[in-house]
Amino acid sequence: MTQHPAVEAFRGGPDVIRVVGHRGARGLLPENSIIGFEFALKAGAPLLEFDVILSADGVPVITHNHRLHAPTFRAPDGRYITTEPKVAEMTWAELQRYDIGSTDGTSAYGQRFPEQAQLDGIRVPRLRDLLRLIAQPDNSQAYLMLEIKSDPDFAKDQAYRAHLVETVLAELRETGTTRRALLHSFDWGLLAECRRLAPEMPTSFLTQLPSNADDVGEDSAKAISPDFTGKAEQIPEMVAQHGGALWCPYVDDVTPSNVALAKELGLIVAVWTVNDIADIDRMIALQIDAIVTDYPGRVQRRLADQGIRWLGFDDHMAVATQPA
Ligand code: MG
Repeated sequence: MTQHPAVEAFRGGPDVIRVVGHRGARGLLPENSIIGFEFALKAGAPLLEFDVILSADGVPVITHNHRLHAPTFRAPDGRYITTEPKVAEMTWAELQRYDIGSTDGTSAYGQRFPEQAQLDGIRVPRLRDLLRLIAQPDNSQAYLMLEIKSDPDFAKDQAYRAHLVETVLAELRETGTTRRALLHSFDWGLLAECRRLAPEMPTSFLTQLPSNADDVGEDSAKAISPDFTGKAEQIPEMVAQHGGALWCPYVDDVTPSNVALAKELGLIVAVWTVNDIADIDRMIALQIDAIVTDYPGRVQRRLADQGIRWLGFDDHMAVATQPA
């Protein structure tokens, strides 16, 4: 059986470890922005991770938190917002009033990304904007790790959850990009819905052990994720039982034994969010398939220094022969 091309795009090998641009290239450019995605594509990191939430008028938009994020959203007066309304309660047009081009350096979140460019006039993109970008012939190497965000307020609302998945799938189908994306989530119930509504598409299972702290300034996934207490070494089996193609553990949760088990089960292992050099080297030593990072160039350099590729030979050739 031929594997789905999006699965193959994330598969590593003896001398290949894939590089996935987390929210584009968050360490260098505004997260979840078209300019960040374009940068990652041009920087040889054509595997893109990003987050999708539905606006009040049913538009899938690319943003991480369920509430507008005060450290990265500026109101039309140019100031960072001080209250955080819900994305799901704002229309697409209302969301366009905010500028997401910079990060408040006085916030704990902003201090995590001191090298991020500070831009003006950057807006929350729609899923459709990114799908159109990767549908362009120049971006034929791009594949998507499309994270569907699960709102805890709608955790029991089956109709809303089905509508969310159906809306995302409709946009993939309309733009002809179903073979370019993985459906990725912490909410395994949503992934089951994906498998029911799009059995032809691969699913990618995010996990984080409850013992590890959430990253500063970000929505926690723990409310909508299975409880993995005491199950650290069994998670790959659980993912395989649920029909997952990828297992995506948090960087501190990865062990030699659970990676080995995942490989035995035929899962692709893509680890997030790997930014520190020591963590990058540990992931290389573990021979995982893919490294999800805010700093694609930093990971490429570590891989290159060790003689490891991140694109297939054909992909490297395609990059080298693209017209200037
Ligand atoms: Mg994400």
